[in-house]
Amino acid sequence: ARKFFVGGNWKCNGTTEEVKKIVTTLNEVEVPSEDVVEVVVSPPFVFLTFVNSLLRSDFHVAAQNCWVRKGGAFTGEISAEMLVNLSIPWVIIGHSERRALLNESNEFVGDKVAYALSQGLKVIACIGETLEERESGSTMAVVAAQTKAIAGKVTNWDNVVLAYEPVWAIGTGKVATPVQAQEVHCELRKWLHENVGGDIAASTRIIYGGSVNGANCKELAAQPDVDGFLVGGASLKPEFVDIIKAAT
Ligand code: 13P
Repeated sequence: ARKFFVGGNWKCNGTTEEVKKIVTTLNEVEVPSEDVVEVVVSPPFVFLTFVNSLLRSDFHVAAQNCWVRKGGAFTGEISAEMLVNLSIPWVIIGHSERRALLNESNEFVGDKVAYALSQGLKVIACIGETLEERESGSTMAVVAAQTKAIAGKVTNWDNVVLAYEPVWAIGTGKVATPVQAQEVHCELRKWLHENVGGDIAASTRIIYGGSVNGANCKELAAQPDVDGFLVGGASLKPEFVDIIKAAT
């Protein structure tokens, strides 16, 4: 069985005070055990070590990005080695905001995923189509191409979580319906089955992201191929706890 996974992507938000408050709240809540749900929060780089040291031990942290290869003369970048050195276990790679605003290509994202894994990081790899792509009927072609660029460079899938985040659903309040999410997740699992392998298709978590909140998470979580969530806006709010509880 695939363990339910709930990630909180804080994006470029928060002050020291706000971050401390969120973590303090999370540390006090009662949630299903680590055997039932894996919880990972992703603060901006500058708060990563602070959150890592303050956060309860059954929750873990993720960076929101890392450099594509070994560190060096790359001003402004943070390397995978640095994250490992700071005991940061996870990294989000290929978020649509970076793909769109910073021109990260499928190939670049695939290279990043492979390098991060090679250094021992666990990766939340993001894919998803735009509204235009959905409306033109190319959703599956787009997410398959994005997944292929990653799959072509990954040899061990144990430390990969695939996050399906339709761009039109991110930060819009326009969540994918449970049927829409299940449809793509099921197709993605089929793609993995045919192109990577049956065992990997069965064991890899495919999580959904895009306007997930405390009210819509239960129905989404009930879909057979939805193995968890990557939450943006709601991960900064108390309702994040309700989303964690959707695992049960
Ligand atoms: P929202 O939950 O704010 O729509 O963001 C989703 C997301 O991009 C998570 O990575």
